[in-house]
This record gives sequence, structure tokens and C-alpha cells, in this order.
Amino acid sequence: MQPKRPVFTEISLGKASASHHTWLVTQALSDLIQDVRIDWKSQAACRGYPDELFFPVGDTDEEQIATALAVCDSCKVREECLSYALESNQRAGIWGGTTEKERRSLRRRWLAERKRSA
Ligand code: SF4
Repeated sequence: MQPKRPVFTEISLGKASASHHTWLVTQALSDLIQDVRIDWKSQAACRGYPDELFFPVGDTDEEQIATALAVCDSCKVREECLSYALESNQRAGIWGGTTEKERRSLRRRWLAERKRSA
């Protein structure tokens, strides 16, 4: 994966101030993390399934939810998917093998844990 900005070239040429160096490195790391985060989607087991399958109306269509969760069970990026959903507060749909209701509860605990460890 290539960085999106010529960070290291500018730094090695000494063209940037210290604060600009910090900003450039921070941006490069942020871009890299974003690229890695996005990359998990390319390995998702749900690719090729209709989006609607993973967005049942609420938690009421048990058959649809069970079908979507079965796909998640075989997904090798389930953890990444769930982390993404918790971090970005995805309220609708099936993410990381969890329903909307399950994720509301999980997110409350996840936020509490983050506060404790901050
Ligand atoms: S865990 Fe489920 S919703 Fe998430 S990427 Fe995998 S199959 Fe898709």
C-alpha cells in the first residue's frame, strides 16, 4: 500500500518544519490505518450478498436475521467488522455477527470499558 502523500520525501529533504513533520506523519499514519481498516471489507463473507439481507427491519425478521448471521459465522473478518461497527456506531443492520439489539448492549459495555481504560 502506497502512502497518499509524499511524507518521507519532504521530511528527508528538510523542507518541512517540526510541527509540519508531525502533521505529515500523523496524516500518513491515519491514512495507513484507514487503508487497513477498509481492507477488511474486501475479505467479507457477505460480499456478493444483497445488502438488504444484512439490514432487516429492526430485530423482527428472525428468518432473515438467522440467514445473515449464518454468513457472519463463516466470515474471517468478523472481529474487524464488529470493531468497525462499534467504533462508528452502526445502529442499523447486522455487523460482526451481531444484531442491532445485541450491538446496543455491546456498545454500552465497549464505551464503558474505553472510559475506564482512558
Ligand atoms: S461479519 Fe458479517 S457483516 Fe461483517 S463482514 Fe463478515 S459477513 Fe459481513
